[in-house]
Amino acid sequence: MAAHQEKKPSEERKHKSTQNHTRTSQVQWGRAWEVDWFSLASILFLLMFAPLIVYYFIMSCDQYQCSLIDPVIDLLTEKKHLSDIWNKTPTLTYRAAGIYTLWVAFQVFLYVFIPDFCHKFIPGYVGGVQEGAVTPVGVVNKYEINGLQAWIITHVLWFANAYYFHWFSPTIIFDNWIPLLWCANILGYAVSTFAMIKSYFFPTNAKDCKFTGNFFYDYMMGIEFNPRIGKWFDFKLFFNGRPGIVAWTLINLSYAAKQQELYGEVTNSMILVNVLQGIYVLDFFWNEAWYLKTIDICHDHFGWYLGWGDCVWLPYLYTLQGLYLVYHPVQLCAANAIGILILGMIGYYIFRTTNHQKDLFRRTNGNCKIWGKKPEYIECSYMSVDGTKYYSKLLTSGFWGWARHFNYTGDLMGSLAYCLACGFEHILPYFYIFYMTILLTHRCIRDEHRCLNKYGKDWKRYTAAVPYRLLPGIF
Ligand code: NDP
Repeated sequence: MAAHQEKKPSEERKHKSTQNHTRTSQVQWGRAWEVDWFSLASILFLLMFAPLIVYYFIMSCDQYQCSLIDPVIDLLTEKKHLSDIWNKTPTLTYRAAGIYTLWVAFQVFLYVFIPDFCHKFIPGYVGGVQEGAVTPVGVVNKYEINGLQAWIITHVLWFANAYYFHWFSPTIIFDNWIPLLWCANILGYAVSTFAMIKSYFFPTNAKDCKFTGNFFYDYMMGIEFNPRIGKWFDFKLFFNGRPGIVAWTLINLSYAAKQQELYGEVTNSMILVNVLQGIYVLDFFWNEAWYLKTIDICHDHFGWYLGWGDCVWLPYLYTLQGLYLVYHPVQLCAANAIGILILGMIGYYIFRTTNHQKDLFRRTNGNCKIWGKKPEYIECSYMSVDGTKYYSKLLTSGFWGWARHFNYTGDLMGSLAYCLACGFEHILPYFYIFYMTILLTHRCIRDEHRCLNKYGKDWKRYTAAVPYRLLPGIF
């Protein structure tokens, strides 16, 4: 299984260290080995309630026109019982099961059997076989980057169907949205459970497994670092990108088609949401090779958090704005529409530029220009489990000199723009900005804890040089 994994980190200098006394202090990077009560309580809460939260949001739209308060009022005043709501909820259907199976099978086919050809003719696009980052045990995995191609093929087929073949209605996703939710849950739980069993009996790289001894924590946060089947089927890359993010733009298109069907027009707010989220999704696939260096792939293990999250949480909750606009079509005045577009584009510019600056800096080992100047940085070192010492650099120029996670700030501005497009009548479409603020703030803290363990005093020098996390002078 490990034959495809090579110990040849291309970006960072390394040498075998004889200083094993420093090893124990530096090898504890990655997620926690010991589970504190707060983490455990949060995990139990999420395992129990996250599926209910998703159900509640989708049901609120289906039965209460996207009002989050009305179901509670109905239950408290005993106008309705839980069983009434449940009985009105569409069940799993053969049709939805068929659609979902075909969808996932098609994405697996595109991922596994069609090697990337986009990088051969699209200038500047990095696809094909690419290396990931060094794992805690010093392994560098190879990945087939063909997400952009999968996205293009899927969307070409979608439009070909909508305008030419008419095999199915473009509203198919909206029309089967709750039955599909049950299918997504089945896949999410199945893949997380399979990943857990696999880590015990046939892990891809046994040394990169983390067993905390706590069943719930291991199930949620994952044991295996990079589970794979065969040489190329990488769980993290597939599940995050394909059933989740390829679906994102299709789901939005289906919502736009439903608006057209119901009201005879597609509102400018729906177009804004489709365009802004479409740019974000396309950016993800254009930069899929870069994604290999982000926290999801570099540091998170594969468990329920990624498995179920990618199958259910992401496609259902990241698309709430479009769903809301089907029930409440909002036509924005030109000034508001332009203002929201500008906010979304500035957010995107900050998000992309910040990520690009770090990527360029790391790829060229600092031999590049950031904002026209040679970059400033802090030299740092860390050690992998086998005692190999690696050297790296932390950028302090460009947006990375403004704050330690300015890419998150840009992401949050873009997220706010999607929500604002829905007006102020209901709170449901604003869930995304609340969620992203919590997710990214928690991510800052989680990542910095990991970096402190990894880089030790070098990280402290970095935080002294760049004291703020998200907003210079504030946080
Ligand atoms: P980053 O891309 O910021 O990666 C953090 C890692 O970068 C650190 O662990 C560290 O890794 C390295 N690093 C930190 N500071 C520096 C520095 N100054 N110079 C060089 N390297 C540094 O974070 P994420 O992977 O979380 O996010 C990537 C993007 O994805 C973000 O823009 C984020 O907004 C977006 N995102 C979106 C989500 C969504 O649901 N929509 C969810 C999560 C992220 P190392 O060990 O290599 O030093």
